[in-house]
Amino acid sequence: MQTPIFHFTLKTVWEAAKKAGSYAPPSLEEEGFIHNSTENQVANSLAKHAPKTGDMVLLLIDCDKVNKPIVYENTSGGKELYPHIYGALNTDAVAWTFEIPRDAQGKFILPFGDAPAKTNEEDLKFIREAIQLSRNGMENNEGGPFGAVIVKDGKIVGRGNNRVTSTNDPTAHAEVVAIRDACKNLSSFQLDGCVIYTSCEPCPMCLGAIYWARPERIVYACSREDAAAINFDDDFIYKEIPLPIEQRAIQMTQLLQEEGNKVFKAWASKEDKALY
Ligand SMILES: [Zn+2]
Repeated sequence: MQTPIFHFTLKTVWEAAKKAGSYAPPSLEEEGFIHNSTENQVANSLAKHAPKTGDMVLLLIDCDKVNKPIVYENTSGGKELYPHIYGALNTDAVAWTFEIPRDAQGKFILPFGDAPAKTNEEDLKFIREAIQLSRNGMENNEGGPFGAVIVKDGKIVGRGNNRVTSTNDPTAHAEVVAIRDACKNLSSFQLDGCVIYTSCEPCPMCLGAIYWARPERIVYACSREDAAAINFDDDFIYKEIPLPIEQRAIQMTQLLQEEGNKVFKAWASKEDKALY
C-alpha cells in the first residue's frame, strides 16, 4: 500500500466536488496538477497556502485508489518533493475528511498528534480487513454483511462477522463476536488501548457493548443510513432509547423492586468482588 497523502480545500468546494464525484481545483487548469502534501508537509502548506477565512477541510487521499498519476516533484526548483496528482481527483479515493478548526489566532489545529500518517495507514489496512470479513461472512451465508476487527499495538487481537442466522443468535453481530474473541484472546473483560474497526457504524446494542468494553476508539466504513438502505434499520432502536418506558414498542413492567434490591445491597457490601 502506498503512503496516503493530504489535500486541503474549502469545505464548500469539497461538498460540490463530492456530489460530482470529481475534484478539479483551479491549479489543475493553471499548472496541470493538484497540489498535495505528505504528513510532514501538511502543517507548513496549510500555514502558507490556506485562505485566511472560510471553513477548510483536510482530505486524506488513498493513493491506491487515485486513478490519475501521482508524481513526487518540486516544480519551483526546490529540493523538497511534493505529491502532485496529474488530473482530476476521483472523490472515492478520499478515505477521510476532517474539518480543520482554527485557534483564537486563526492558526489551524490539525487532527492528529505526532505520527498521523502511520495511524492513518494502519487504519486503512484494518478497516479493509473488517470489510473483507463482512464479505466473507456474507458469501459463506453466516449472516448479514457485517465484519469487525479489534487491534491492539498494531496487531489484530479479535475478529468477527455477523453470525445471527447461522447460529440462531440475535446478539451475534460482528462487533459483539469480535469483542468476545478479543477479550478471550487477551484474557481481559476490557479492551484497553484497542481500536475497533467495523464495516458499519455500530447499532445501539453494539455501541453499548463497545462502551462496556472500553476500547480507545472506533473506526467504521458504512453509515447507519447505508445499512438502512439495504433494510438493516436500527434507527428505530435509537429512537426508542430516549422514549419514556410506557411509550416504547416492547412493553416493560416493573415488579418486586425491593426483593431485587436485596441482592444489590449484598453486592455493595461484598468484599471479594472484582470491580469493572
Ligand atoms: Zn450491532
